Amino acid sequence: MIQTPYYLIDKAKLLPNMEKIAWLRENSGAKALLALKCFSTWPVFDFMRDYMDGTTSSSLYELRLGKEKFGRETHAYSVGWADHEIDEAVSYADKIIFNSLGQLDRFGDKAKGIATGLRLNPRFSTSGFDLADPARPYSRLGEWDMARLEMAEDRINGVMIHYNCENSNFELFSDQLTRIEGEFGSFLKRLDWISLGGGIHFTGEGYPIEKLADRLKAFSDAMGVQVYLEPGEASITKSATLEVSVLDIIDNGKKVAVVDSSIEAHMLDLLIYRETAKLPQNGTHEYQIAGKTCLAGDIFGDARFDKELEIGDRVTIDDAAGYTMVKKNWFNGVKMPAIAIRELDGTEHVVRDFGYDDFLKALG
Ligand SMILES: *Cc1c(COP(=O)(O)O)cnc(C)c1O
Repeated sequence: MIQTPYYLIDKAKLLPNMEKIAWLRENSGAKALLALKCFSTWPVFDFMRDYMDGTTSSSLYELRLGKEKFGRETHAYSVGWADHEIDEAVSYADKIIFNSLGQLDRFGDKAKGIATGLRLNPRFSTSGFDLADPARPYSRLGEWDMARLEMAEDRINGVMIHYNCENSNFELFSDQLTRIEGEFGSFLKRLDWISLGGGIHFTGEGYPIEKLADRLKAFSDAMGVQVYLEPGEASITKSATLEVSVLDIIDNGKKVAVVDSSIEAHMLDLLIYRETAKLPQNGTHEYQIAGKTCLAGDIFGDARFDKELEIGDRVTIDDAAGYTMVKKNWFNGVKMPAIAIRELDGTEHVVRDFGYDDFLKALG
């Protein structure tokens, strides 16, 4: 038995996502790069590598991780490169995508040896959250003015357009792509490659992936470009759990089970977007599952079980891969969950554990 708390990545659940990505690549001609900001747990990169073309990144460290641990095609993007980073970044990257004309002006010469792109912001997106909306007012994410794009034209051969957010609506995706073709088509036709970013939820159940393949192929043919996708969440959705144990049960009018983990420290993204964790919902015994930090609102959500919970019982929290392991932190000094993998044959093993020494070194 592995000691809780730990994240458990299940290769049998990761595999269907990988197979859908491989199918889409084959049937659309698009290449698929794992967006590391969503998921960077590199011990499973050996497994994912056969199904994807490489990685894309948001910083020098992610870029280096992608190059060294995933390999294949490596895209470099950052909202802002620093003078002391740019040479090293170029040394790892197959393509570098600048966020602004200013960054291209400053560093374009350094990137002469590799493919160079610019982020294009179409000024619309599918995000319902201000916090995650690249099209929010005064957005710093990319260029949209045609005159400015044309000033970059002789220095770039591609663009990255990231404007979807967990978009499971194919018609919306297709309509917005038509809008991009209309507004930017004449410019896009002069390029060699276009990345459409991430946020398309094509590995979700019932998504019309055949229609997506046809639409991407039509776009690629019309623009005469190699299309890239940068799936983050879609790559790893539902492939991991957070395994925790009950430490205490408190009844103050509602039964609260305190577990050996924390939403603030181990599933922070849910707290930021005010969502509840995916918890067991079968049975009539209801408990609020709460974390062990002293933050009053450290609450995963309500769960239902078919029998009463006891101290030491295991609780499994679903969908713990995307934007979760990459955001874990040492708040309250709570033990960071270990990382374990369930192989296709069902065996489980720990690939990384964290202890006091890691806590110590993170702070001074
Ligand atoms: C966040 C991000 C992605 C991945 O988004 P998902 O919604 O996880 O698929 C891809 N590309 C860029 C530029 C991003 O910022």
